[in-house]
Amino acid sequence: MKILVPVKRVVDYNVKVRVKADQTGVDLANVKMALNPFCEIAVEEAVRLKEAGIATEVIVVSIGPATAQEQLRTALALGADRAVLLETELSVDSLQVAKLLAQLVRQEQPGLVILGKQAIDSDNNQTAQMLAALTGMGQGTFASKVVVTGNTVAVTREIDGGLQTVSLKLPAIVSTDLRLNEPRYASLPNIMKAKKKPLEVIAADSLGVSLASNVKVLKVTTPSSRQAGIKVDSVDALVEKLKQEAKVI
Ligand code: AMP
Repeated sequence: MKILVPVKRVVDYNVKVRVKADQTGVDLANVKMALNPFCEIAVEEAVRLKEAGIATEVIVVSIGPATAQEQLRTALALGADRAVLLETELSVDSLQVAKLLAQLVRQEQPGLVILGKQAIDSDNNQTAQMLAALTGMGQGTFASKVVVTGNTVAVTREIDGGLQTVSLKLPAIVSTDLRLNEPRYASLPNIMKAKKKPLEVIAADSLGVSLASNVKVLKVTTPSSRQAGIKVDSVDALVEKLKQEAKVI
């Protein structure tokens, strides 16, 4: 069984992003980029399934600029077998990404597609769901446990106030939550080996999917800064302020 893992290049989660002066987005000049953390968990899960003898091949795919090859190489160093870059300099939104992935699913016929639940830049949390709709596959989103048995996969999902386990017929779509696994670090020998693994670059606009976006970002702003706190002398003063000023009790 092949596993397809879509991975996104995003601003590293340690970076404090700056909003551009014209409010059209965040400033990406000289900013450290990385593999989206939820995608890293997806790669780890796929590699573990291969190590357990359940998967035969792990293919990572990214849709984005030529520089996204860096993140594909990272995923190869973490254990993926080969990579595909659907290259475009356009900023594509989730529907275009899902349509491009659906094309690749048709070509590659994976038994499982494991995505991150969310890309930490746009926070959309919708590509896995859209891909499920476009391909007609069952979906197990926000997975904290994935067990493949025969031609089914049991996915334990993190839902409000508890866990839900669903059984999906393969091929299926899974999106990863934080607690699914703890991704490994890429060792130096594996980083070196990854340089020799196959990475195919395909022009995204050659797949017959319109890359024109239906979504226009009107503006991006920073959260308003919090007012400085104050110290009160006594519990009575605190209660008084909570009653009279904050009006929360
Ligand atoms: P989103 O729905 O945008 O929050 O992203 C959820 C997941 O979809 C990500 O964790 C990736 O697995 C996948 N994804 C989103 N955008 C891309 C992209 N440009 N290239 C590859 N995978 C993507």
